[in-house]
Amino acid sequence: MSGFGELVAAGRVAESVRLGALTTYKLGGPARYFIEIAAEQDLIDVAAALAEDPQPVLVIGRGSNLVIADAGWPGLAIRFGNAFAGLGLGPAPDHDITAGAAVPLPRLARESVNRGRGGLEFYVGIPGSVGGAIRTNAGGHGSETADCVRSVRVFDLASGRFRDLAPGDLSFQYRSSSLTSTDLVVTAVFQTHPIEVGAGQQHLREITRWRRVHQPGGTLNAGSVFRNPPGDAAGRLIDELGLKGFSVGGAAVSTKHANFFEAAPSATAQDVHDLVAAVRAQVLAKTGVDLVPEVQFAGPFT
Ligand SMILES: Cc1cc2nc3c(=O)[nH]c(=O)nc-3n(C[C@H](O)[C@H](O)[C@H](O)COP(=O)(O)OP(=O)(O)OC[C@H]3O[C@@H](n4cnc5c(N)ncnc54)[C@H](O)[C@@H]3O)c2cc1C
Repeated sequence: MSGFGELVAAGRVAESVRLGALTTYKLGGPARYFIEIAAEQDLIDVAAALAEDPQPVLVIGRGSNLVIADAGWPGLAIRFGNAFAGLGLGPAPDHDITAGAAVPLPRLARESVNRGRGGLEFYVGIPGSVGGAIRTNAGGHGSETADCVRSVRVFDLASGRFRDLAPGDLSFQYRSSSLTSTDLVVTAVFQTHPIEVGAGQQHLREITRWRRVHQPGGTLNAGSVFRNPPGDAAGRLIDELGLKGFSVGGAAVSTKHANFFEAAPSATAQDVHDLVAAVRAQVLAKTGVDLVPEVQFAGPFT
């Protein structure tokens, strides 16, 4: 026995694990293999198994930017477990915060403020993880991840090695970085500045209130579906075409924010995919703007 067979037999890798519950859309089928990383040794062993038995790899953070196909993921899905949810001050004593890949962004924002550190407040309304934020250069409220990252520790599944990267190595652009599906963010160091705790908490409340007013809460969605085109807003273009409420199957354009697409409990991942394609085609036909999806589709769609 070799490769994933050994890891399955040892109970370290599970087979046929449904991924929908790990995403905010709650949609999609099973992964062929699934591992929750409990220690760095798991990363090394997975890299060795992949070298013997190559599989397509999907890293899942908090699944808030992902649509998993109804047929599932045909290879290995990886999630970082609690061992990677640590957060603390340092290494620079006055202005750094180090956080594991699995730390939820709202927690990073709140704990940073509670320790008198500012600059990460914008994360309070983004329901992702540190790993997902680095990969997608998450941002909002005038800030983005690229502005506040000092360094990132990555495990490269292809070489089986850890690497420490500086922001300049990550080629951050609007909602993207140069990390590939085999570059796993393990920890990140964020640069912050001293703030007064009460003022920071007030800032968090303002951001949270703004989100409640402008974005649909409590529904199944993955945030903004399309990136904003240069100098414009995808939601404004979609709204102007009267597409709020437009639906395909169980997926519909939010009536509150036209760049959020919501799934009914009856929806399929294919419905979301087809709605995205239909809205993109209508916007292109009527405005000439070809919107680029921000949400990521994983697995086979027709
Ligand atoms: C209500 C709502 C509001 C949102 N608002 C915003 C917003 O204001 N701004 C914004 O930018 N986004 C927003 N999003 C989208 C989403 O929260 C961000 O893209 C977030 O950074 C994704 O993090 P995640 O952990 O959920 O990643 P996932 O969705 O799990 O994955 C996203 C990508 O990151 C990769 N990834 C995840 N973890 C790792 C890791 N450890 N190492 C390497 N790659 C990894 C995945 O493979 C995938 O390619 C919103 C989503 C929702 C549901």
